Amino acid sequence: MLRRISTKLVVAVLLTVVLPFVVFAVFINEQMGDRLTRHVVQQALMGLVKDLGGQIDYFIDERHQDLDLWSNAPSINLALDDDLFEQRMLERARVEGGDPESGGPPWSAASVALLARGRMGSGDLDVGSQARALFTSELDRYVARKAVYDVLLLIADDGRLVTCSSRTPEGEPLSFELLECLFLTDFSREEWFQRTLDEERIIGVDHHTSPYRIYEAPPDEDQAWNYHVGFAAPVRESNSGAVRGVLYGLVNWKFIQDIVAAPVVKDAFRGLVKPPEEPSPYSWIWASDGDTILGHPKRSLYYKSVSKDLGLPQMVEAVRENRAGWGLYPEYTFLGEEKNAAFRRCAVQDGFSWVVGVGIDNDDIYATAEELSDLLLGGTAFVLVMATLWTFVIARRTTGPILELQRYTRRVAEGDLDAQVDISSRDELGHLADDFNAMTRELKAQRGRLVKAEKDAAWREMARQIAHDIKNPLTPIKLSLDLLERVRRNGDPNADEILDRTTELMQRQVENLREIAADFYEFTGGRKARPGRVDAGELLDEVLHLHDAWAVEKGVQMQRAGRGGLVNADVGKLRRVLVNLVSNALQAMPNGGELFADVDPEGDEVVIRIRDTGTGISEDVREHLFEPYFTTKGEGTGLGLAISKRVIEELHGSITLEPAPWDEAREGRGTLATVRLERLDETPSAAPGEVPTEPGPTGPEQGSEQVDGEGPGTS
Ligand code: ADP
Ligand code: MG
Repeated sequence: MLRRISTKLVVAVLLTVVLPFVVFAVFINEQMGDRLTRHVVQQALMGLVKDLGGQIDYFIDERHQDLDLWSNAPSINLALDDDLFEQRMLERARVEGGDPESGGPPWSAASVALLARGRMGSGDLDVGSQARALFTSELDRYVARKAVYDVLLLIADDGRLVTCSSRTPEGEPLSFELLECLFLTDFSREEWFQRTLDEERIIGVDHHTSPYRIYEAPPDEDQAWNYHVGFAAPVRESNSGAVRGVLYGLVNWKFIQDIVAAPVVKDAFRGLVKPPEEPSPYSWIWASDGDTILGHPKRSLYYKSVSKDLGLPQMVEAVRENRAGWGLYPEYTFLGEEKNAAFRRCAVQDGFSWVVGVGIDNDDIYATAEELSDLLLGGTAFVLVMATLWTFVIARRTTGPILELQRYTRRVAEGDLDAQVDISSRDELGHLADDFNAMTRELKAQRGRLVKAEKDAAWREMARQIAHDIKNPLTPIKLSLDLLERVRRNGDPNADEILDRTTELMQRQVENLREIAADFYEFTGGRKARPGRVDAGELLDEVLHLHDAWAVEKGVQMQRAGRGGLVNADVGKLRRVLVNLVSNALQAMPNGGELFADVDPEGDEVVIRIRDTGTGISEDVREHLFEPYFTTKGEGTGLGLAISKRVIEELHGSITLEPAPWDEAREGRGTLATVRLERLDETPSAAPGEVPTEPGPTGPEQGSEQVDGEGPGTS
């Protein structure tokens, strides 16, 4: 797999760069979501919920201050005095007139009507009502200024309404029916009224539906409009300090709910999600029981029980068990969303002890982490792709020239020394290519020189060999001529006999020279072969016959066997092969011996075997037998077997020389020469190219015998 440099490079880069990158990305992905973001978000939730609770506390505080300030205003006592005065007047009228029916509402119906029309303080009222009217307009001013009170009531210690604000915060007059109802109410039956008188302090009246509904919730507004909290402050006699009435302010719940519904809840987490998306956080208010929902963005959940209706008892439990009044809810699932949330108790001093909570979807918490990890993974993928691509490009640019070099190296190896690499890069590979080209040029030049040197050497060797081989027969010829000269000069009586012997010797030497010339001629290629039908048996007989005299001379017995066989060959060339084999055999038996020659058809081959009982061939000699110029003889050319092999192979046959089987009688081996040739059909047809067997141009190798100094003619 890693067989290519480019692959190795890519793998190396992936392992060293990309792998750690991916591991890092996965690690960040794992760790960041939980450890970083969730923790930070939880802290933010806690901070937010603390802030919201603080705002509610502050809002409640402000109401306390309002009531405290207003209940101590000097005009409030005047109004109460005014009321007391009127009560006395009415009492007296009742006693004097004895008319119990003339009691009626504390204010005349006319006055209430005026109140309803918003015309209090216009001077149309009875003298006795002047102070109350003035205070009424003061209450109206309070309502208008603070804008959170639906109505302010001044109640006498007997539970009768003395006066009240007459307009809504928006300045609309209150309805006559409402006012009439208020004036007819006996507040002494209210628990908060009694408590205010008893405890002589400002009492908070928890979240409730007010019986004095100032107005219905405007359409499309949430139900918070229909709920209220109340604040009741004791009013004291300016001199004695005794409590003589109650100032009651009815605050619409909407304003408290607005605090927790403020945009800050979402804004605080806006960074967590991508812009068009709204962050999920919202907040809520639960009652002091930590269970009943008082405020929630979902209006339908008002007054629902968290533990029962919402099925989240673990949240209620968490709030109830928490002593600090501030903390985190356990993670929970609401409407299929996993969430984290924090809570805080607030307005504890009034006994309201509401629970403000802020929750957020886990999706939002992890959105940033997910976005970051997406970015990281995207970045990793990008780095991966880029790294791989670049590595491939670099690897290509690196291995390209190497492959080019490899290709040219092969061409050079195949002998094409004209190959020149074309690599333009100026780096080490460029230098290598330059060196390669220089090397090829040098190689080419060297080869030229080498070929020339080899040619010269071959010619020299050839010339040396020829000169050497020709010199041998020339010496006896020269000696013979000298002898003849001497005989003629001296007039030797045996001149005739000597002349005959010398002539015969010279003829043999000339024959030998002819033989040597023929060998060299044959070795250089010789004449063109003229194949024809040859009876190998007849040819072998002829060759043996030629060697008869020599064999007798050497004391060698020649035996001929076999049925013979027809082959397709150039008879002259085949004769030369057989002559060489027979004379090699005879030369190998300087002290006499036996020569077995046989020709037999074997399958579709004709096999010629010539075995001697001579010196045999050593392993060393055997290796070089067929090499030209290889000879172990002082006067041999070493061409005989080389020529034979070529001739036989041209006929698609084979020639081998091997140690002969062990000869018991002689306790020796000798040599066995085997020639195998393709066999021709026995039925002879007069082929046009047929050359009849004729006596060869060469005689037995008597020359060498002479030169070797073995023959009888040696002088
Ligand atoms: P040459 O006869 O001129 O030496 P050859 O090619 O005919 O050249 O033979 C090569 C060599 O092979 C001989 O010198 C000799 O050593 C060896 N050889 C050939 N035939 C025989 C044989 N019958 N017995 C032993 N050695 C042989
Ligand atoms: Mg020979």
